[in-house]
Amino acid sequence: MELLIANGRVVTEGGVLCGDVLVRDGRIAAVGSDLAGHAGRARVIDAAGLFVIPGCIDFHVHADDEIGRWTLADDLGSASEAALLGGVTTIVGFATQRPGEELQTCAARYLAKVPARSRCDVAFHLTPTGERWDWAALTRLVGRGFGTVKLYTTYRQAGLYSSWERLAELLPRLAELGLRLLLHCEDDGVLSRVDATRLDLCDPFSHTLLRPPQAEVEAIEHALVLARQAGCALHIVHVSTARGARLVAAARPHQPVSAETCPQYLYLTEEALRRPEGYRLLCSPPLRNEDTRQLLGELVLAGALDVLASDHCPFSRRDKDIINGDFRAVPCGVPGLGALVPLAFELLTEQGGPGLEALVRMVATNPARLAGLYPRKGTIREGADADLVVLDPCGPLQPVRSTLADAHDPWAGRTTRLGFRHVLLRGVEVVRDGRLVDAEPAGLALQG
Ligand SMILES: [Zn+2]
Repeated sequence: MELLIANGRVVTEGGVLCGDVLVRDGRIAAVGSDLAGHAGRARVIDAAGLFVIPGCIDFHVHADDEIGRWTLADDLGSASEAALLGGVTTIVGFATQRPGEELQTCAARYLAKVPARSRCDVAFHLTPTGERWDWAALTRLVGRGFGTVKLYTTYRQAGLYSSWERLAELLPRLAELGLRLLLHCEDDGVLSRVDATRLDLCDPFSHTLLRPPQAEVEAIEHALVLARQAGCALHIVHVSTARGARLVAAARPHQPVSAETCPQYLYLTEEALRRPEGYRLLCSPPLRNEDTRQLLGELVLAGALDVLASDHCPFSRRDKDIINGDFRAVPCGVPGLGALVPLAFELLTEQGGPGLEALVRMVATNPARLAGLYPRKGTIREGADADLVVLDPCGPLQPVRSTLADAHDPWAGRTTRLGFRHVLLRGVEVVRDGRLVDAEPAGLALQG
């Protein structure tokens, strides 16, 4: 099982080199120039004029799960297909404990879905719920490769809310176990002080007033202080405000902290909520104003954020279209998985952006490190899994597609010239010339 990707522009952590990547038994055997002599009778992919990057990692994906009373429109089968078609070879999802469920059982329930359905590799962030956590079980799961815990500063009704007092108790214990805390930052106190009776609940724009930027900013401020005191590594998910991103950047020299933002906050604004179908773009935190969008984009280009992730959260058209005079009935979340890399490419490499190395950092290397998958994933170097993407930066125009499910696509109508000529998962070609290679799903659960 040998394969040689020849004459590409290979994006490594040391820079871009013109040369070859030799793949043997699912791993990268060598990176360098003129490897043809070492390749024996390997199949050769000619990558002249093309870029070779590591398989990308979407660090924030909801799929094959229930959220509240809704079932997500993507299971791991369709999500992983959209992922591979968009250059993503590993997705990181969420394993959320049900009321009364053992944490161990919860992890097993999610892990079991992977080999049955997924075409790409999958890891999970854990969300323990309930008042009393099973710390012994959590310790065992850390030993099995779980490295992150996701918690929420809001969503009381869904049973996900953790108060600041509770977080202050939990963080030192998470730190002891070496776990990184992923935190949804919208301060529940700020949210609860908004007077909904004064808002027009037929108008989806009111969603932005119900969930103001200040809720995010205050939550990030508070979380940074608690994490610093506890010595706990902190990752802020889906930062939607420039002030929030600046707080993280200012704290980074003093404590282990990272942050992600998502394409919807960099390309779309709250003005889109004023359109008749605006409710289809409801997500939390909400889309922000044009000033914020621009400032956040500048911060991404300046390297102030660590990760671009999709926060893929696809609801079916039918579920999303239940508005019925009150937008609060509409489930919050938009799909984005298949669009992540094309949109990151446009943002980071066009019009004087920092380039493909920044893209690889933000959608491969950094998420791999934060998920505990590095250097197996997220980098092109000897010994790593041969998750590789051969990119054509100037292919024919084609539509961006975030999901293959029957869901409203916020990126419908958008096009890209980025072509995914070959996508390899552990050395096996899974996409050729922008199409899935017909084969049985072969995704691996990377924990457990
Ligand atoms: Zn999310």
